[in-house]
Amino acid sequence: MIRTIKQWLGAATDVVLPRVCPVCGQALDGDEKWLCRKCLADLPRTRYEDVDFNTMEQHFAGKVPIERATAYFFYEKDAPYASVLHDIKYHSTPLMGQWLAARAVHDMAASHFFDSIDVVTAVPLHRSKLAHRGYNQSEYLARGIAGELNIPYLETLKAIRPHSTQTHKGALERWQNIQDNYALNHKNADQLAGKHILLVDDVITTGSTLTVCASLLKGIPGVNVSLFTLAAARLE
Ligand SMILES: [Zn+2]
Repeated sequence: MIRTIKQWLGAATDVVLPRVCPVCGQALDGDEKWLCRKCLADLPRTRYEDVDFNTMEQHFAGKVPIERATAYFFYEKDAPYASVLHDIKYHSTPLMGQWLAARAVHDMAASHFFDSIDVVTAVPLHRSKLAHRGYNQSEYLARGIAGELNIPYLETLKAIRPHSTQTHKGALERWQNIQDNYALNHKNADQLAGKHILLVDDVITTGSTLTVCASLLKGIPGVNVSLFTLAAARLE
């Protein structure tokens, strides 16, 4: 009897909570995985990977030497596509991120952006945040890319301090603060000499975290670093 009620409740939950597209809110059909066909087709792609010395690459010029940089799509705060980022970060759907990152590899194939990458890594999350959220969304993105490219994912960096509130700090102090948050994970980093590493994060806004993390990786002899984020604020 209880089993029957559970089965009935299970079916009822499906009816009450159908799978919906996070962008437009429409119910997904059986063939649609995380986003509906229309929202995927309308994804506001940056197509940075098709442009030499693109806007994102220019953003890092003079800060840290990188090979290439791209983001899959543009996002604006409170715009429909921002809900994708919000969901993969806070709503326990990191697998949507993994799926989208793998899709990005597929979509960007013609640009050869990923061709010379040897290993994929992610901007790390401090263990206190990891304990709270349960996962690092950027790791899921990095694993999605590594899986699609059939190359290793490695934890090359660690977050040694939690982010502190920075609203009242000056630019220099803020920078110093971010710099002190990360370190190389020597257990894995020491085997990376001479490799081309793809550093992955969910979004790029100011780029300071990516600059700090890329600079640490550049401390390994002969390493080249490229950057990938799932989304980018419009950088100017
Ligand atoms: Zn949709």
